[in-house]
This record gives sequence, C-alpha cells and structure tokens, in this order.
Amino acid sequence: MIIVMKMGASKEQIEAVVARIRANGCQPHLSQGVERTIIGVVGDERQFNPDHFQMMEGVEKTMRVVRPFKLASREFHPETTQVRFNGTIVGGDKITMIAGPCAVESLEQTREIALALKAEGVSVLRGGAFKPRTSPYSFQGLGREGLEILAQVREETGMAIVTEVMDPKDVEMVSEHADVLQIGARNMQNYALLHAVGRLGRPVLLKRGMMSTIEELLMSAEYVLSHGNNNVMVCERGIRTFETYTRNTLDINAVPAIKQLSHLPVLVDPSHGTGRWELVKPIAKAAIAAGADGLIIEVHPQPELALSDGAQSLKPDKFRDLMRELRPLAAALGRSI
Ligand code: PEP
Ligand code: MN
Repeated sequence: MIIVMKMGASKEQIEAVVARIRANGCQPHLSQGVERTIIGVVGDERQFNPDHFQMMEGVEKTMRVVRPFKLASREFHPETTQVRFNGTIVGGDKITMIAGPCAVESLEQTREIALALKAEGVSVLRGGAFKPRTSPYSFQGLGREGLEILAQVREETGMAIVTEVMDPKDVEMVSEHADVLQIGARNMQNYALLHAVGRLGRPVLLKRGMMSTIEELLMSAEYVLSHGNNNVMVCERGIRTFETYTRNTLDINAVPAIKQLSHLPVLVDPSHGTGRWELVKPIAKAAIAAGADGLIIEVHPQPELALSDGAQSLKPDKFRDLMRELRPLAAALGRSI
C-alpha cells in the first residue's frame, strides 16, 4: 500500500501514520519530496484496511499495490490448479466439455440429452434442479426430485454431474447427488453459501456475477479456498453492458486475465454469455482460442419447449457440429477436447 500525505502534512501526522504501520507489523518506507511525503508499506498489507489510513489526519489518499486475494493468486501457486472428479481433470491439456439442459425437466429428457452427449465424448453433465429465475412465476426447478433424476442418470451413464446449489442448507443434500457444486452468477457473493461449499471440500464451479469484476470473482473464490478447499473452477458467463442484442456480453478478456492473475482453471459459458444459440459456436471457439480450460453449454432436444433458456440451447445435432469444429481448433492450440 502507498500512502500519499497531504501537501504540508505535519511531522506529527507523518509520525502517527508511521507508528500505525509499525503497530501492524509492517515497515514504513518514506519518500520525502519537496512538497509532500509518500509512505510505502512494506510487508503483508492485506490485513490493512486502507480506509483506516485514509481517515487519519494529513492523509491525502491510499493505494493498494498488492492484490487483495492471496490463495487464488498465481504468485501464491504458480502451477495451474487441476480440479479432479470422477476421472475428469479440469485445468490440464484436455479441454473439459460440460453440457446438458439448463433445467432438469424429467428423467426422460435428462437421460436423452445425457446419452446424446456421451456419444460425443462428453463425460460431464450439467442440469439445474434449483433454478434461480428472475420471475417467481417461472419454473423454479424440480428440487430434490431433479437431484434424484441426475443421480439416476449418473448411475446409468457414468457421467459426472454438475448442478447448482442456491441455499447453504441444501449444500449437503446437493453434494450427495452431484460431483461438482455450481454457484450461480446471482449467488457469487452469497458469502454464507461460499463458506458452506468451502467447508464441504467438494469441487466448486463458481460463476462470475453479471455485475462483478474479475477481482470480485477471485475474492469470492478466495472464500472457498480459505477453508482449504482448493477444488475451485471459475466461469466467465457474460456481464451486463449497455448492449441488449445479446443477453449478456461475454468478457473474453477475462479468460487470459484470470489465467494471468490466478492458478484456478477458467471455464466459459457461451450459452448464458450470448443468450442466442446461433452465437454459441463462434463464442465457444473464441473461448478456446483465448485459453479456456473448458466450456459449459446448454443442450435441449426441443429448445422451443424448454422450461428455461430454450433460446440459447443447442439441439444435439448442433452440439455434434460444435464438437466436430472444436476438435481441430483444440489440436491447433496443442490441446485436446
Ligand atoms: C445456469 O447455469 O443455468 C445459470 C443459471 O447460470 P448463471 O448463474 O450464469 O446465470
Ligand atoms: Mn440456463
């Protein structure tokens, strides 16, 4: 942290700041210019609240120089983390494909989609049993019954299951039926939920909030990591901008940026990122070109009848086309899919 003193700050005011830095176990580094004094804080400054210095007399402004997240940072853990579940490794050379319906609607629907995806080499099935819908009148998901359907399809196909958990009290129940717990965009800053999945220790797919910065996403990951749960994957799923043609604006910058800042594997969701099935394929390609470790894609055999997110869901034959085009692209980038 750097503390810039006001022009003409008194010796006593500077000494008070210096004493406070020392009291926190750090060393002050003074640079006395003609007009003002700038104080560098040497040591682990994460414990400091810059606002406390900001409020001291004679202080003009404070600036952080190290990042507020530690466990999520690449400095802390230079190797990319590999999250492993059910034979899948996310964060290695192989790009992980996660696909399935937005919502689990019935056993038949989920099984049909799972079998079509498995035939394309997909080994991780997504599907929501608890749906965070904008309207309370929209389909809210099948709840426990949806989890049981997912567990049954896991049993039949051997696929791993990714499903969303919205309430800390459901974490245990969801974990009994799923391999990966998804924290949705709307819950990225639900700290009770982050603590609960952190304590559980199971793999977590943490989606970026639609109005959250990259730093806020990594701070949410830090909550989970702070419990010793290192199995965190983060997901770019589009953010709100002034553009309304697409449902969200997929922030492709976030992929290489997060990979530089953090060791956590980065997934991309081109379905929610665009809201339009016709855009899913090109954006999936862009994500892979940008270095994503995996994709999460919504698939439905009859999108026009889907109970949620039909407009952004690929039919199984379109998903097959997507896989066909992604394979050579992945290979050209030295990866497989
Ligand atoms: C979903 O994956 O179905 C979902 C609700 O995603 P998000 O939380 O990114 O909106
Ligand atoms: Mn959806």
